[in-house]
Amino acid sequence: MATPDNRRSDPTPNPQLKEIWEVTAELTCVTGCHVGGSKDVLEIGGMDNPVIRHPLTQRPYLPGSSLKGKFRSLLEAADGKGVNGEPCGCAQPTCRVCRYFGPHRKPRHTLNPTRFLFRDAFLTSASQEQLEAAYEQVGLFYAEEKLENTINRTTHVATNPRVQERVPAGTSFQFVLGVRVYQGDDTSLMRQTIQEMVEMVEHDAIGGGGSRGSGQIRLDQLTIRTVWPTPER
Ligand SMILES: [Zn+2]
Repeated sequence: MATPDNRRSDPTPNPQLKEIWEVTAELTCVTGCHVGGSKDVLEIGGMDNPVIRHPLTQRPYLPGSSLKGKFRSLLEAADGKGVNGEPCGCAQPTCRVCRYFGPHRKPRHTLNPTRFLFRDAFLTSASQEQLEAAYEQVGLFYAEEKLENTINRTTHVATNPRVQERVPAGTSFQFVLGVRVYQGDDTSLMRQTIQEMVEMVEHDAIGGGGSRGSGQIRLDQLTIRTVWPTPER
């Protein structure tokens, strides 16, 4: 005998996409930035701590995953979300983190797809030219090698020298954040959230070494525009 399928008696309509926005800004490293790569993938002169580079061009870039993690963790901190050191997975309709970034480790939820899509940020053409010139003139391989050490507390002598690679201060990347807007989304809250996260990240740091000078950034010329449906000309 066939069993009635209760799950189908009250169908939930799929979410309707209303708009796609593109948030753009010029992301400038105010201080040297270290967003880490893997020395297993690219061996660069025995570097212990390389920056992540495009595998074909060797130019540094900022992975969308790193930017997403930073923005998400700042929003979680501001809203007091997440437990036990884990990202927030509460999946509550009122949770900005879960609604915009997706609930952590919770594939079944009713929040509709993740709203924020952080793109990989590549060098602006001006910075690319500048770094290429530095490579030709002084052999700088699109990044500085910064020496760090530990001060021995008994002798006050610097020990344990290590090299960390950083994208030089003044380098700029093209920041792009895609935003999906679904039926019923509070668009003014979405805009406000983007603005809040940008302000927070400018007072925080991206990548490693944030407590000792690295990773201070600035986001200039922040623009939010609707790219779909295609605006009428
Ligand atoms: Zn949540």
